[in-house]
Amino acid sequence: MAARTLAVLVLLGGLAAGAHWASATGADPAVARYGHLEPSLRFDFPVGPPDAEGYYDAQGFGENFHLGEDWNGEGGGNTDLGDPVHAIAHGEVTFAEDAGKGWGNVVRIVHHVRRQGRSDFVESLYAHLDTIEVEVGDLVSRGQIVGAIGDAGGTYVPHLHFEIRRTPDLPIGPGYSPDNSQWLDPSAFIEEHR
Ligand SMILES: [Zn+2]
Repeated sequence: MAARTLAVLVLLGGLAAGAHWASATGADPAVARYGHLEPSLRFDFPVGPPDAEGYYDAQGFGENFHLGEDWNGEGGGNTDLGDPVHAIAHGEVTFAEDAGKGWGNVVRIVHHVRRQGRSDFVESLYAHLDTIEVEVGDLVSRGQIVGAIGDAGGTYVPHLHFEIRRTPDLPIGPGYSPDNSQWLDPSAFIEEHR
């Protein structure tokens, strides 16, 4: 009995080691797709960079199940319409088009983050844009203008809806959800990566 138990434990240990080996050698689709990206060591805010000077977050992450942050100009009303929106770090543009009702023009960028010797990939998402200044496949640098603050075709008072996602290339998503397991608190993430 004891020998059989030991054999099972050895077998399970071997399976676990095999799974770890597979992910370390590129079985993770994000590593295969984005592993070539230069790691981003520093992240800045997407408006008024580096520190969002002149802007405020009108609806924070988690408020009303919000999956992002709503950045507005301190001048109020339409004063921020057309203001530049900046890439928060070096990365690759993976989406740059009108995502439909509720979203308007959206830009999505994947970033490579090195943490404790391993690679993570996060995605920043910029929505309701008045204009888009990048194309899919572009490599952008931190602070580069990717678009302008908009109102999603008159749907909202102009603002930037801004998300950071744990996993690149998820479906466009709902903007609000009680399940935020695939999203990060954008400001907290940026502050942790200065
Ligand atoms: Zn929003």
